[in-house]
Amino acid sequence: MLQFKLVLLGDSSVGKSSIVNRFVKDSFDEFRESTIGAAFLSQTVTIKDDDQDVTVKFEIWDTAGQERYKSLAPMYYRNSNAALVVYDITQADSLEKAQSWVHELKNKVDDNNLVIYLVGNKVDLTKDDEEKRVVDRDVAEKYAQENGLLFNEVSAKTGEGIQQIFQTIGENLYEVR
Ligand code: GDP
Repeated sequence: MLQFKLVLLGDSSVGKSSIVNRFVKDSFDEFRESTIGAAFLSQTVTIKDDDQDVTVKFEIWDTAGQERYKSLAPMYYRNSNAALVVYDITQADSLEKAQSWVHELKNKVDDNNLVIYLVGNKVDLTKDDEEKRVVDRDVAEKYAQENGLLFNEVSAKTGEGIQQIFQTIGENLYEVR
């Protein structure tokens, strides 16, 4: 079995813990307590190599977004194979925060194969009310393309796009392993 380390980064309350919770436990809790320091979880995905099923295990570090924990982040991303950088599509400054994390990763992580996935969360909030959206999908997608990042918009609440993130990262890491 292949194992990869994955770290979540992003502003507090963008939904990092909810994304992990959806992926690992397939559940969503509206009133989760916020993460202190960092939390560790693991989960597998199955990818196909020709006709063969390959199990890929993720060791996931969910970091706390609060400013006072920022200095701890390098400890988690330094040895990571992949980073999920999360923003909330209803909070403009959360994209800026995500971009600063991307910048930091590119400057501080030596691994050229580090997979960075930019995730716009809470897409469910715009389904009934498109006015809630403040981050344009095209703007974020263009930024991702220009910086060599994977990108998608998802919802931890409904589960939309969550499994696919980890599937895609697993496939990418499997190819460069
Ligand atoms: P974190 O601080 O980045 O780990 O964020 P949390 O996972 O603790 O989520 C912060 C808040 O956003 C919580 O109240 C969640 O219930 C809510 N939330 C997280 N993901 C979603 C989502 O996809 N849609 C909606 N509507 N709310 C979400």
